[in-house]
Amino acid sequence: MNKHLRQLIDLSKIDKEIDSFEPKMEEIKKDLNSIITDRDTFLKEIENLNENIVDLKNKKRKNETHLAELSSKLEDIAKKNSQVKTEKEAKALNLEDEITKEQLSFANDEIDRFDKTIENQKSKTKELQTNVNELEKSIKAKEVNVNKNLKETQEQREKISTQKSKLISEMDQKIITFYEKIRRWAGNTAVVEVNKQACYGCFMKISDRIHSEVIKTEDIITCPHCGRIIYIDPKSVEQEV
Ligand SMILES: [Zn+2]
Repeated sequence: MNKHLRQLIDLSKIDKEIDSFEPKMEEIKKDLNSIITDRDTFLKEIENLNENIVDLKNKKRKNETHLAELSSKLEDIAKKNSQVKTEKEAKALNLEDEITKEQLSFANDEIDRFDKTIENQKSKTKELQTNVNELEKSIKAKEVNVNKNLKETQEQREKISTQKSKLISEMDQKIITFYEKIRRWAGNTAVVEVNKQACYGCFMKISDRIHSEVIKTEDIITCPHCGRIIYIDPKSVEQEV
């Protein structure tokens, strides 16, 4: 086989392998990432609940202030009541007393209601925090393995990248440019085998003339249908003969 073609085949195999690392690494991280996402969702919920609790506490405090105001108002009414002179005055004070007591009871109910809601939200937060802790544990456990696998994969990738640099340094620049041009649209199928007289890039049948040319010639030949570089594995030619 032509030396340039041999190099092109090797280069395309190396490129294909280099491209396979990214999905491989994603696959390694997949499980761990999904647990991290779950944990972050819980953390976000906890944050929202805590904001809610602060808000509820503020509302409760306002009611407490109001409650204190109402209490001192009741004291005032009681004081005035002891100095009342006419029945009309007494009636008016009585009404004010009733209204104030009603407001007081309402404020007390509100405070109770806020207390209950705050307790409820706090227990939800606690539950979520337990989940977060569990997830943190499994993140820690998985991280060791994932990092080890990632490191190994990274090392393999570096090894192959070194192989590529070496091969490229030995190749004809014009042929590399030609290959890269095809690779831009054909990706990892820029160099394909011809099998059963069909291009294994576009799967179209190749004419007898081009087929025999691919077998015999020392030139680099492209598929007449798609333009990919085609070659015949010498082993498969021996088998066909
Ligand atoms: Zn083709």
